[in-house]
Amino acid sequence: MSVSAELDLLAGVPGQLFIGGRWVDGEQGGTIPVHDPSTGAVIKEIADATPADGVRALDAAVAAQESWAATAPRARAELLRRAFDLLVERREEFALLMTLEMGKPLAEARGEVNYGAEFLRWFSEEAPRIHGRYGLNPEGTGRMVVSQRPVGPCYLVTPWNFPLAMATRKIAPALAAGCTSVVKPATLTPLTTLAFAALLEEVGLPAGVVNVVTSSSASRLSAPIIADPRLRKLSFTGSTEVGVRLMEQAAKGVLRVSMELGGNAPFVVFDDADLDKAVEGAMLAKFRNIGQACTAANRFIVHESVAEAFAAKVQERISAFKVGRGTEDGVTIGPLVDDNQVHATDELVQDAIGKGARAVLGGAPIAGEGTFYAPTLLTDVTPDARLLREEIFGPVLAITTFSTEDEAVALANGTEYGLVSYVFTEDLARGHRMIDRLDTGMMGLNTGLVSNAAAPFGGVKMSGMGREGSFEGIHEYLDTKYTLIPVS
Ligand code: NAD
Repeated sequence: MSVSAELDLLAGVPGQLFIGGRWVDGEQGGTIPVHDPSTGAVIKEIADATPADGVRALDAAVAAQESWAATAPRARAELLRRAFDLLVERREEFALLMTLEMGKPLAEARGEVNYGAEFLRWFSEEAPRIHGRYGLNPEGTGRMVVSQRPVGPCYLVTPWNFPLAMATRKIAPALAAGCTSVVKPATLTPLTTLAFAALLEEVGLPAGVVNVVTSSSASRLSAPIIADPRLRKLSFTGSTEVGVRLMEQAAKGVLRVSMELGGNAPFVVFDDADLDKAVEGAMLAKFRNIGQACTAANRFIVHESVAEAFAAKVQERISAFKVGRGTEDGVTIGPLVDDNQVHATDELVQDAIGKGARAVLGGAPIAGEGTFYAPTLLTDVTPDARLLREEIFGPVLAITTFSTEDEAVALANGTEYGLVSYVFTEDLARGHRMIDRLDTGMMGLNTGLVSNAAAPFGGVKMSGMGREGSFEGIHEYLDTKYTLIPVS
């Protein structure tokens, strides 16, 4: 990819706030730098919204709500479909933009464009299928009509790790359901969402239906929006810590909330597993997005009789990784998103090593330009290692062992999180037992990748509440209304 192609692309991305169908500066005119994590260079300055700007965005969403809710479902669907088509057509531009602001390898960024676009297609198909019920009450005296109404203006807050898909996974069902929104992308990776807003504008989004605000202080910007009684829904994807804080704020207004929070996925390999399949799954579940995924396998819980063979196979695969800038050919591991992520990853790795784990590969940041961390393989991780309980957002594969199925289940469930689990076994009955016994909202049985726009994505316990995608996804943006009509 040539430098001039990158510069042209970045120049075309709007750097302002998108409020009421117009691109505007923040009221105080401040800007925030956006960096390329592979070089540390500032690639663009974007507008820094004040709390008053945030409320202006909500004003616009509130003003547009009634007419958007009254827009025919088919018209809402067609807008989403046009957005899907155009996004697919612009796959390369969006992929490059994500790689530049977030660091993931281009091949993965292309995959995210496909995945993110699918939410537009899926919810374009759901918009005309919002159904209700109708029936006589048991007494025979009244007709009961159950209908679905859009919840109203929404505040959609997204993280930096999947800059496109986390946005479309919220914006598409909101649009399909007839809700307007204020979107706040992560400060580290706002460009993809701004470019997506411009794409929505291009395909005919009415003014105010989606508004985008970016800010250097997410908490100051968000507080008055969440406290505003006109807001009816908060959908958040990010860390459990921030999610809990926002739920407390949302409780005051009794807002509908959807929370997609942190994960700490167990990856269980039984002695009857197909090891090659397990290794393939491990590469996806661990190293996709440079390990910075809520669905990333955090703890490899491997039967003691196959642990050595599994470690040897993953060691061979990790040794073949190519670390570098995501735009370069063949790169499989890009930089972590920033210095904080490098420090947080290293802290957990050093803690594990200090407590007895063996660093077979990696185990340290890579010196020089950019925020790179060496792909790491840790074996003999001891039960007191912090990374068995805390989410590690980096390319670190940590192996611990078990001997009985009950022990594997106890280890897998021994976390406050419950987003996803991965299980590898060739024993069908055992696989079914694991579906019942593992406390996670999702599970991959002999696969390391579960995400799909047609699947209900979400967690239990401290990993959140609500589901995104699938049939469930649109109901997060709909309220049920019951009406009684006397028979005579
Ligand atoms: P984060 O919680 O720091 O930030 C998420 C979003 O919240 C960002 O837009 C940020 O600007 C905003 N924010 C931060 N503090 C805020 C505050 N006090 N008030 C209002 N908004 C605030 O998370 P992150 O570091 O961007 O993302 C990584 C986390 O997200 C990980 O824990 C990961 O597991 C989680 N995640 C979960 C899912 C899921 O679907 N469950 C998907 C992706 C990421």
